[in-house]
Amino acid sequence: MNTPQQIPFGKPWITDDDRHAVMEVLQGTVLTHGPQCKQFESDFSRFVGEGCNSVTVSSCMAALHLSYLHFGIGPQDEVIVPAQTHSATVHAVEWVGAKPVFVDCDPETGNITAEAINKALTAKTKAISVVHFLGMPCDMAPIMDLANTYKLKVIEDCAIALGARINGKHVGLFGDSGCYSFYPVKHMTTGEGGMFISKNAETVQKVALLRAFGVNRKHDERTIPGMYDVESIGLNYRMSEMQAALGVSQLKRMEENLLMRQSNFEVYQERLAGFDKAKLLYTKKEGFTHSHYCVSVVLDDSIASKRDTVVHKLNEKGIGTSIYYPLPVPFMSFYQKKYKASEQNFPNALKISRQSIALPTSPHVSPHQIGYIVDTLKHIIKELA
Ligand SMILES: *Cc1c(COP(=O)(O)O)cnc(C)c1O
Repeated sequence: MNTPQQIPFGKPWITDDDRHAVMEVLQGTVLTHGPQCKQFESDFSRFVGEGCNSVTVSSCMAALHLSYLHFGIGPQDEVIVPAQTHSATVHAVEWVGAKPVFVDCDPETGNITAEAINKALTAKTKAISVVHFLGMPCDMAPIMDLANTYKLKVIEDCAIALGARINGKHVGLFGDSGCYSFYPVKHMTTGEGGMFISKNAETVQKVALLRAFGVNRKHDERTIPGMYDVESIGLNYRMSEMQAALGVSQLKRMEENLLMRQSNFEVYQERLAGFDKAKLLYTKKEGFTHSHYCVSVVLDDSIASKRDTVVHKLNEKGIGTSIYYPLPVPFMSFYQKKYKASEQNFPNALKISRQSIALPTSPHVSPHQIGYIVDTLKHIIKELA
């Protein structure tokens, strides 16, 4: 290859249909509290599958915060959280005044495990936060066994796992709530935005009120315009009609989107097979459907110290990269100051954050470009080794 290619890590897939859908909303005057949010909620529930109830929210962080508020988690309570995740997973716990108890991840997948959760349980544990890392479902059966035994709520952070299933059942339907993100680099986008789902319809009804100031009557339920009461303290975590229209349009391509991600992922797998200097975070498990958010290659210990050099060289060749996630949350300054985590308790999370490089699988990248990405990566690593 002589001409350097420009392959961004993330690039939202926006079509003319998407643009048209948003413009249609703007031709009218209903910009919030309208039919697009309702449509998006019912389409999303249908996509996720049987038993799903959905409500649109302004972000995944909002959905997570609403989960803890709704389930009454607060000061004196502990919530078990993965160390290797986005800060939003943990911020939501902090905002309700509960204590996050961090656990290390499995080195093969980056996922939290029932064994690690079990060791972190105390008499104060009230909930478990599960993150399906990079679209790989966590092993939910043993986690739900623990939750049922100890009467714990399970909040599933599905921000990077839309389309991930276990024996056909979508993530977010195992625990008490599922929280999704439509931030631009995620599986699909509404600019900013999120979805709160639960298999419990009443939970979703109550959360719908909580995310809209706690007002007791929705717009279409008011007999006199402007007349309503507020029965609880709420927030404004609503999604707008423009965002929802984009979501409806994007969701129509989700199956196709997932297939493209899968074939891209398979190119990485084939081309990296047997290359022991860089390994994909992945395990194949019977009945587990991976949704291929991106790939994360973990460099071998022998070149671990050169991770940042590898990243620079890839970027110089026009290959966009990211890191999931750059620092385990307990070592981010705010959390390190507050809880003083010790490095020896998080070897796997630290290894992933220090030695991994995330590469794109999303629909803007072609299998041919992935061939180029892998060849370039191998070449750079061989030069440095
Ligand atoms: C991106 C992300 C979030 C935050 O999503 P927002 O919609 O931006 O609030 C939460 N959790 C995980 C695991 C994420 O990757």
